[in-house]
Amino acid sequence: MSALPTVAIVGRPNVGKSTLVNRIIGRREAIVEERPGVTRDRNEIDAEWLGHEFTLIDTGGWMADEDGDDLDAKVSRQSEKAIADADVVLFVVDAAVGATADDQLVADLIRRIDTPCFLVANKVDNEKQQHLIWDLLNLGVGDPMPVSALHGVGTADLLDEIVAVLPEPEFEEEDDDPNRIFGVSIVGRPNVGKSTLFNRLIGEDRAVVHDMPGTTRDSIDTIVETDGGPLRFIDTAGMRRKAKVDQETEYYSLVRALRSVDKSDVALLVIDATIGVTAQDQRLAERVDASGCPIVVVLNKWELLDADGRDAAMTGVERKLHFLGESPILRISALTGKSVNKLWPALSEAIEAYSTRIPTRKVNQVIRAAQVAQAAPEGGRVLYATQGATDPPTFTLFANKELPRTYLRYLERSLREAFDMGNTPIKLRVRRR
Ligand code: GDP
Ligand code: GDP
Repeated sequence: MSALPTVAIVGRPNVGKSTLVNRIIGRREAIVEERPGVTRDRNEIDAEWLGHEFTLIDTGGWMADEDGDDLDAKVSRQSEKAIADADVVLFVVDAAVGATADDQLVADLIRRIDTPCFLVANKVDNEKQQHLIWDLLNLGVGDPMPVSALHGVGTADLLDEIVAVLPEPEFEEEDDDPNRIFGVSIVGRPNVGKSTLFNRLIGEDRAVVHDMPGTTRDSIDTIVETDGGPLRFIDTAGMRRKAKVDQETEYYSLVRALRSVDKSDVALLVIDATIGVTAQDQRLAERVDASGCPIVVVLNKWELLDADGRDAAMTGVERKLHFLGESPILRISALTGKSVNKLWPALSEAIEAYSTRIPTRKVNQVIRAAQVAQAAPEGGRVLYATQGATDPPTFTLFANKELPRTYLRYLERSLREAFDMGNTPIKLRVRRR
């Protein structure tokens, strides 16, 4: 979990905001992932420049009806907040058109809020158009930076300036915080036994329980003190015995799961062993996995199965959830409590792998050895590597040229094996040097 610094992009329609966003993320060598947008109405996307990561917030479509002429009529409170909350604002203007009255309204807003702002003079496609930017000085929000988002001219300079003023990402501190409480979410289809399991876990003698305001909006989390230290169970309001009123729907369980895994360091994926792995279970597992959260698979209601049923259930998991790789699979009965205590060590191990921090020297040893054993094609080489972040372990590779995906997977495998990271998600970022 990391709170990256944010860069909000504002400007009236058609000035080239989307083109600029695409240009910025297109420049990124690493994989771009759009956030699961269930509860979000702004378009947020993570980007990176020279190893600085940030979240771009595209406030596109934020201007209300074109006829209004006072600021309130045009600027929704939402985007005003996006600007105020951002670390940096990119105010995009169409230099070919010049400063319009609408641009002036945005400029007024930006001057009122003291978020650092870059005035991006877009559509300056060639030298001859450079003079167009001087007109934009009138906006009173600083020197215009000429850019052609379409052709990628000037965007590198712009990004250099942006990352120079970005604050350090917050996760650096979070990682070093010895008091950080790791988050666990319990996810699964309705009726698989999530609530029963949760109540069983908090009912264990060695667990001391208290409620906390949730990490997700309008939710309640439960802190459980275990022998292995405190754990935060995310979004537990619906799972406490008394609170459970309504049957949850398939859809809601998916939405809830995705929202809570975003805040979690590990997810318990509960499956009804008497039914086996369904298409819904598969879909949920894929989404949780894609969100970068490690998974512990829980086959619940195990006591109801005979020997044949047990074989069938295990085969089903291996076949239908094979993409989870080496995720631990626990067979339990939440109802009787059988084997439930095995969850604690499984959770600790998953969390440990997820928050592994490996010294740079060792990372480089492994990468070097891997390259000796099998060199990258066409003279590609990783010159230096470092682990930039934990939760999940994120490695930055400085390379002399782009490396093929298959080779990156090979390096990932080498790191995973060398440091015993089991099935925890690993991110690799490549930077060209
Ligand atoms: P948005 O609505 O503000 O996000 O604007 P878009 O990104 O959709 O761009 C609006 C139009 O301007 C599109 O037709 C783009 O191709 C065009 N455009 C964007 N950037 C440039 C540029 O740098 N130069 C030129 N000539 N056209 C651009
Ligand atoms: P949730 O919707 O996933 O929270 O599921 P619940 O915890 O409400 O459980 C659904 C039903 O399955 C309830 O009737 C539980 O008593 C039952 N159940 C839960 N765990 C087990 C188990 O391990 N064995 C058996 N036989 N029934 C269970």
